[in-house]
Amino acid sequence: MTHSITLIRGDGIGPEVVDATQQIIEAAGVKIDWEVCEAGAKVFEQGLASGIPDETLESIKRTRVVLKGPLATPIGYGEKSANVTLRKLFETYACIRPVKEFPGVTTPYSGRGIDFVVVRENVEDLYAGIEYMQTPTAAECLKLITRRGCEKIIRTAFELARAENRKSVHCATKANIMKFTEGMMKRTFEDVAKEYPDIAAHHIIIDNCAHQLVRTPEQFETIVTTNMNGDILSDLGSGLVGGLGFAPGANLGSEVSIFEAVHGSAPKYAGKNVINPTAVILSGVMMLRHLGEFEAANAVEQAVLYTLGVSKIFTRDVVGDKNGVPTTQFTQTVIDNLGKSFDGWMPREYKTIKPLVIPAPATVHQRQVIGLDLFLEDPASPAELGQSLENLIADTPFKLKMISSRGVMVYPDPGVMPDVGDFHRCRFIMRDTSADMPQTQALELLSLIGQHYRWVHIEKLNVFNNEPAFSKAQGEN
Ligand code: NAP
Repeated sequence: MTHSITLIRGDGIGPEVVDATQQIIEAAGVKIDWEVCEAGAKVFEQGLASGIPDETLESIKRTRVVLKGPLATPIGYGEKSANVTLRKLFETYACIRPVKEFPGVTTPYSGRGIDFVVVRENVEDLYAGIEYMQTPTAAECLKLITRRGCEKIIRTAFELARAENRKSVHCATKANIMKFTEGMMKRTFEDVAKEYPDIAAHHIIIDNCAHQLVRTPEQFETIVTTNMNGDILSDLGSGLVGGLGFAPGANLGSEVSIFEAVHGSAPKYAGKNVINPTAVILSGVMMLRHLGEFEAANAVEQAVLYTLGVSKIFTRDVVGDKNGVPTTQFTQTVIDNLGKSFDGWMPREYKTIKPLVIPAPATVHQRQVIGLDLFLEDPASPAELGQSLENLIADTPFKLKMISSRGVMVYPDPGVMPDVGDFHRCRFIMRDTSADMPQTQALELLSLIGQHYRWVHIEKLNVFNNEPAFSKAQGEN
């Protein structure tokens, strides 16, 4: 059977590592019709702000499978990362990043049996990149997490653990601080875990997870986490087994899957023929398994292991500039080693992951809005601002509950005063909280305050199922 694959060679070192992978897959006898497409730096330079031309999108819609080199992201304002755009456009919600010790690659952890997989939520969280300058000196990034997004990634983690015969899943969050966003991940994990009694489920706070990963990484088998946390943890994981040159990855969705290394375009090595192609080659192995080409996948994986463990051929990232072989020589050695197998590697049992069934969200039997937070820009001190707002709203249905600065209550006077800028959150609560706040009253409040102050944005204060659905400020009672 011939598979159609969209091939994006990428920027910087991308073409070198992708070409290496393409050659090895072809040498393994897999028949592929490669649709070579553009994305990234060249496309940005041509003035296309998304970095992804229509032809590339059309190809992906057709093939539904992408092998991709890294794409450089312009830093600063304007253009978004084309990598993130591709992941989000095609809803590849699960980013799977295995971390496993390699033969011959000596690290401080060699012999510890590191073998875990990071299952990173791939389309939500701060990575949605919804950002605003609230004032000329205050920036905001929205961290959006949905129950459905959590269900999808957590179910994927448990299904993957089962498919690969992994006995435990750790869910790493910062739920102790971000109780609604990261907390949703934790709560969903605790709910879904009940459906997988055969797999040990542990919640771990993300900072402790980083600490434990450095001390005893061999305790982990599967780590499921939010987008930003997963980004950082998977780079950390690669550092435990030899660096980013050894960190493959897959972005899986219900329709489209994109296979790419964890690393970026490493521009300083571009065109030098020195970079380690292993991460993209092993992303190619994940792609072959996804296509059902299990035999070829095993052959390529074994050839890589043989190259490292028996031929002892390494690139400069492992043995330094003097002893490292060129990327092309490493690639040729892997091709020459196809058909050989390496004994010291415990193969995993790979099965296809079952399609996910996401249950409908639990119904909310009670909901109410009891007030609003109004963010405004003003140079007045908290005491002056608070007093002035109290006077302004004296005859309205609202009372001023508090003012906070960057999450800390500064009015009423908390006794100690943090560094207060000119950007304040003013919390207005209905005097009568037994009823739902009418939208018209919110508009009247905005109109009244807008006559005196520059307001920046509002948030409604919801109560769902009789529980407040907003966080308190530090110091607020
Ligand atoms: P990077 O490209 O991953 O490189 C960071 C460092 O990792 C390199 O300097 C090198 O370390 C090492 N490294 C990376 N790939 C390697 C390989 N195949 N073999 C051996 N060593 C490797 O990260 P960056 O410099 O932060 O990012 C560069 C660009 O890539 C940025 O535009 C970024 O936005 C983009 N990026 C893209 C993706 C993606 O396409 N998925 C992911 C991450 C970053 P030494 O310097 O120690 O040799």
